[in-house]
Amino acid sequence: MLDSRFSGNKARKLHYFLNYDFNNFRKIISHGSPQSNAMYSLSELSKIKGVGFEYYVDHIADYLKQNPHGNYKYALQNGMKILEEAFPITLKDEELFIPEGGHFVEAEYGIKILAQELKLYDADIFLPSGTGTTALYLQKHLKQKVYTCACVGGANYLKKQFLELEGDERRHPTILTLDKKYHFAKLYREFFEIWIELKKETDIEFDLLYDPLGWMTLLKYQPQFKKEILYIHQGGLIGNESMYPRYKRRFNEDYR
Ligand SMILES: *Cc1c(COP(=O)(O)O)cnc(C)c1O
Repeated sequence: MLDSRFSGNKARKLHYFLNYDFNNFRKIISHGSPQSNAMYSLSELSKIKGVGFEYYVDHIADYLKQNPHGNYKYALQNGMKILEEAFPITLKDEELFIPEGGHFVEAEYGIKILAQELKLYDADIFLPSGTGTTALYLQKHLKQKVYTCACVGGANYLKKQFLELEGDERRHPTILTLDKKYHFAKLYREFFEIWIELKKETDIEFDLLYDPLGWMTLLKYQPQFKKEILYIHQGGLIGNESMYPRYKRRFNEDYR
């Protein structure tokens, strides 16, 4: 139901800036991975607002440079300037800095609106986390329980991310874990399998970075949930344009 130009939860996280007066800014600055959903969504925001967008990355693979695809390709088409260097520590007056993955207090504005929509359901909430910003602000504005899992860096990293935005641990989401440790953006056969199974059974395409771990965690804990669970699909489908061919090459299967 969201504007398709913004990839899923990034629409919520950036909502604040849609109504924001950019008269004093000429440029958005951010950093992260060259295939990130946040990067693409920022390129859309910069286009809507008529300001520049400079994005700093550690490294762009030669293959990606020669064959632009996915978020990288569409962000470049939106006029993103991408630089393989450390991001600037000091900013000029007319530059607006947005932290990696939209892990910042301004995200609360849009996620609170999502929470108001979710209040209408008599269900607890599950969503997989990256920076944890979405899960954190949902829990802050919901009486229902918010469950999540750490797709990046494990449960301790996620806890730290929560603490950066909210000091009161009683207001944090509940982190559920699996026994095996999975590394972010690496390929796992069980991820691909559950993704294919979900597609077949629900006819819904989920994202390949966060949702497989999310669903594996959800299914493990299913017997323990007291209420029905509302699972939040957070978008990220443009990312599948790069993830799906990688999976297909690795496991040599085509189920689409
Ligand atoms: C960004 C993103 C997440 C993680 O959101 P956080 O607020 O950083 O936890 C999860 N799923 C998708 C598809 C995303 O694009």
